[in-house]
Amino acid sequence: MSLDRSRLTALIDRERATYVQNHPRSQSAFVAAQANLFGGVPMTWMAKWSGGFPLYLDSANGNRISDIDEHTYVDFALGDTGAMAGHSPGPTVRAINARIGEAGGFTTMLPSEDAAWVGAEMQRRFGLPLWSFSLTATDANRWALRLARLATGRSKVLAFSYCYHGSVDETVVVLGPNGETLARPGNAGPAVDPALTTRVAEFNDLTSVEKALAHGDVAVLITEPALTNIGIVLPEPGFLEGLRELCTKYQTLLLIDETHTFSAGPGGMTKANNLDPDIVVIGKSIAGGIPIGAYGVSQTLADRIDSHDDADLIDVGGVGGTLAGNALSMSAARATLGEVLTDGAFEQMIVLATRFTDGVRAVLDKADVQWSISQLGARSEYRFARPAPVNGTKSNEAGDDDLDEYMHLYTLNRGVLMTPFHNMALMCPATTQADVDLHTEIFGQAVDELYGQ
Ligand code: PMP
Repeated sequence: MSLDRSRLTALIDRERATYVQNHPRSQSAFVAAQANLFGGVPMTWMAKWSGGFPLYLDSANGNRISDIDEHTYVDFALGDTGAMAGHSPGPTVRAINARIGEAGGFTTMLPSEDAAWVGAEMQRRFGLPLWSFSLTATDANRWALRLARLATGRSKVLAFSYCYHGSVDETVVVLGPNGETLARPGNAGPAVDPALTTRVAEFNDLTSVEKALAHGDVAVLITEPALTNIGIVLPEPGFLEGLRELCTKYQTLLLIDETHTFSAGPGGMTKANNLDPDIVVIGKSIAGGIPIGAYGVSQTLADRIDSHDDADLIDVGGVGGTLAGNALSMSAARATLGEVLTDGAFEQMIVLATRFTDGVRAVLDKADVQWSISQLGARSEYRFARPAPVNGTKSNEAGDDDLDEYMHLYTLNRGVLMTPFHNMALMCPATTQADVDLHTEIFGQAVDELYGQ
């Protein structure tokens, strides 16, 4: 089926009008906020919601969000993974309340006993023995890159084209036509040309990885085990094993960023695919929505870091933050990992994501529409290309802002929220089969209106 752009434009106009009509309070809150919030929002990316202005939050619970215009939605965005445990999960709320109310003191510069429990649980899940905590995955990545440079004495980082690891300077890059490192279009005010800090390769292309590593100056290869920020790009068979072998061959450390791929299972893809990284980074979800990030390192790497007596890891040497590892984050992580995002919860979430994926695929097949859907455990995402793109550059080319806006508004106007920057759906322990089936039905209507006779 080919896409009729004029029909798409008319449908977007209709959906936008419905959105504006249904959300007068959100719209006026957004207009009022222009006076004092940069971009009219507390963080500039929030303005990217489809429809011209974002929904304003009233409340959120489990997998439901209510806005100030009194609509309630089935939430598949789940704070782009921050709320993968569901919004305000009971055990996490109780642990936070206990910390705040009875125990008291959440930022004291002292460790709490919860931290060691969380470290041990992270080892059980991801295999790496030694853990440090931050407040965001971005910071965990930044600090891990510093430690990798310290340990290896090498200056560069290897990242994949169109990767995303947070606002980490070294990773805002794409691959140039001659294999060179380019700043990703839109890279805002980089401190230096990223070609000075970073070599770039293409995901699923071990030849390009080896070419970059062969220079012998790469401290660490940073990657998600499946790209999830440019659609989902799954690794082809042998690719992740090949990365491990090449990193060992060229004495480059391997950093696996599990912030999103945690959806693959209780120990992310590291456990599910039996990966053997030197560093694992994760953030967002492990404290049920309370700010946290973490990085785990192998004993060998810890020993290498420790051997640098000259490095100031205690005070102002560039690694660490005052609020990192605070007692509130730690109590939330203990409850979330211990009682919410359990092994059993993952099983149920993955069954639902499989149902979601099968439902979308059946609609696409029936209507003969050349889109694809990829699943990563409890997460699924559709992309406007079939077969699914195999690397960041190709997946970027498959992007279509108009189709994105249409699908987002269409589902939102009918009570289903997808992740704002992509067409990603994530299941949480509160997601039900009926929620998944509602999405399938609405998705089918959207496709039918766009492609039907
Ligand atoms: N790593 C990955 C893979 C991510 O997707 C993100 C954010 N989407 C981050 C790191 C950064 O997370 P945060 O913005 O919470 O620091």
